[in-house]
Amino acid sequence: RLSARALVKRFGETTALAGVDLDLADGESLAVMGPSGSGKSTLLHCLAGILVPDAGSVMLRGRPVHGLDERERSLLRRTSYGFVFQNGQLLPELPAVENVALPALLLGTSRREATELATRWLASLGLAGMEGRRPGELSGGQAQRVAVARALVTQPDVVFADEPTGALDQANGHEVMRLLTEATRAVGACLVVVTHDEQVAAWCGRRIVVRDGRVVDERRTA
Ligand code: ATP
Ligand code: MG
Repeated sequence: RLSARALVKRFGETTALAGVDLDLADGESLAVMGPSGSGKSTLLHCLAGILVPDAGSVMLRGRPVHGLDERERSLLRRTSYGFVFQNGQLLPELPAVENVALPALLLGTSRREATELATRWLASLGLAGMEGRRPGELSGGQAQRVAVARALVTQPDVVFADEPTGALDQANGHEVMRLLTEATRAVGACLVVVTHDEQVAAWCGRRIVVRDGRVVDERRTA
């Protein structure tokens, strides 16, 4: 579904990606591990159309992603991708339900339908009754579950998560990963999770280790 060939990304003198090949099959979940500064986030950003690689290709369902202009990449991110970051990045002034509904509204879903969808997603992530709370009124684990709901409300092809449990304790991290993998499977999406944590990686069917901008190890987990 998603594949990268010979991906290279430089920042000035730094070569963040030095030729990465990767294939993600339908429904697959992948953990991206490796030391700090090895290029994990850069890889995720290139796959997700946030950064443009200097060389190489990224294909989603046979369509090239690497050559798109900013407007096309932004549309691709909205229609095909969902994102979960370490600290949620929810809009602090909006209640949970509106944070979740927003990506659907941006795709033209009616307000009524988007609110219904968001309410359903929040309930399925164990947050029924918390629709009206703003991010500041939620625990870290709850806020991260809102972020999971927001990532899935548009039924994306691929969900990207960069250290989704990095700010959580072990029990909450475990719960967020359980819900993230379940929900991703439920919509038939692929999942790419950047993490330092072996226990987080264990939720994914496959893992790669990145070092100095290259994939140095690859294996199936489960
Ligand atoms: P961490 O585990 O600490 O998040 P990472 O594996 O995600 O690390 P990246 O963020 O991908 O690492 O960074 C890879 C390399 O590219 C590092 O040397 C980093 O300093 C450099 N880099 C990343 N983004 C930029 C940028 N916007 N400008 C300049 N250099 C960058
Ligand atoms: Mg990173």
